[in-house]
Amino acid sequence: MEYEVIIGLEIHSELKTDSKLFCSCKNDFGGEPNTRCCPVCLGLPGTLPVLNRHALELAVRAGLAMNCKISGFSKFDRKNYFYPDMPKAYQTTQYNLPVCYDGYVEIEVDGITKRIGIERIHLEEDAGKLIHDAYGSGSLVDYNRCGVPLIEIVTRPEMNSAEEARALFETIKSILEYTGVSDCKMQEGSLRADVNLSVRPKGQKQFGTRTEMKNLNSIRAVYRASQAEAQRQIEILERGGIVYQETRRWDDRKGESMAMRNKEESMDYRYFPEPDLLPVIIGEEWVASVEKNMPELPRSRRDRYVNEFGIPKYDADLITMNKKLSDIFDRAVAVCGKPKLASNFIMTDIMRRINENGEEILDANLTGDNFGQVLLFLDRGDITHAAAIKVIDKIVETGEEPKHIIDGLELWVQRDEDLINNAVTSVLEANRPALDDFLAGKDKAFGFLMGQVMSKLKGKCDPAQVREVLMKEIDKSAGRQN
Ligand SMILES: [Zn+2]
Repeated sequence: MEYEVIIGLEIHSELKTDSKLFCSCKNDFGGEPNTRCCPVCLGLPGTLPVLNRHALELAVRAGLAMNCKISGFSKFDRKNYFYPDMPKAYQTTQYNLPVCYDGYVEIEVDGITKRIGIERIHLEEDAGKLIHDAYGSGSLVDYNRCGVPLIEIVTRPEMNSAEEARALFETIKSILEYTGVSDCKMQEGSLRADVNLSVRPKGQKQFGTRTEMKNLNSIRAVYRASQAEAQRQIEILERGGIVYQETRRWDDRKGESMAMRNKEESMDYRYFPEPDLLPVIIGEEWVASVEKNMPELPRSRRDRYVNEFGIPKYDADLITMNKKLSDIFDRAVAVCGKPKLASNFIMTDIMRRINENGEEILDANLTGDNFGQVLLFLDRGDITHAAAIKVIDKIVETGEEPKHIIDGLELWVQRDEDLINNAVTSVLEANRPALDDFLAGKDKAFGFLMGQVMSKLKGKCDPAQVREVLMKEIDKSAGRQN
């Protein structure tokens, strides 16, 4: 039998605000435990929360970027549960009146564009963090993250493969980065996804029983967890078993999931309206002003690269998927004026470095300005391609100016004709047999002689110029021989 896989995602993203959602504590990753909290985010009696206007603006921005409707009237609710990472014993969130609803994003898989519905985007606060095993058998709690603003993005169950789930997560990540809504640092937990997945025999109208996998914190984990869970459910149905509605924990190291709790144990959160916060009334004018100040979205940037710069769509897609890389590219093109040279260099040499060393190299000293300068030198023939790569590596490592690096490593292309002539003459004298071989028709011998000259010049001369001089000298000695 053939099966259809149905996937919906719930994506939690921390917002890039200065302060927390309902108090003025600093919103920043890390810090000494329990140094970034106050009576409000610790939920002490008698305190009152005040909504962070910037957090609301970022949520609206995310909604507009995902083609959502913005609620004119929205409110906050309490989601009640007891857990030590939540000192108030409830989370302030939005239940039935989210800020944004009914939108969509477009994803592309194997060249086919598909629209995935966004059911809602709501604002809520993050919880603290439990630190286990730091002191023997006990657990410690750090409330620094308590009250950090989040948006939760809920998609419609409209993805039909792990590839589509991955594409959606990637697309939303890049939208959030471009709009400045979140820094999306997944290793710091500022972007994470829950995967809801069910399968059903092809043609069946009714949905199968779905499971939920929580807190996946990488694009790879979303992909692998979706693939493995679809496979697990299909295998159960194939042997006539029953898929239970449950929450599962994905273990990325083992590449498998295990049941955490089933439906019977699932919690009743007893949502009720937050009495300490006023409803949020959002005027159309304010929404219009947020929309006007919206940064360029990845799609339109990609189209600009294709239409204005003539870059292949595949390359433009890959470059724009990563905002930092795309910013570096944009600035480098402004500096060197050579979009194709810049994109070719990125697609080969920079991508290889990202694959080998991770995206962190984009945080480490490489900027559009210094990259653009290196390209300018390369384009003018002042340095060779091999030298340009050495300079980039050194920039990533030390952040030094390209010119200093090229001076220091003596990478400038030498145009001194005497230098080249002398090198050619001495190589020809020392390698008489190779010269004779070449003159006797062994073309390979030329490559050997060329290599000898380049190595004598320590690779610092323009290969085209060296080749020309070498050819001329060989012709001369051929003339002498005849
Ligand atoms: Zn606080």
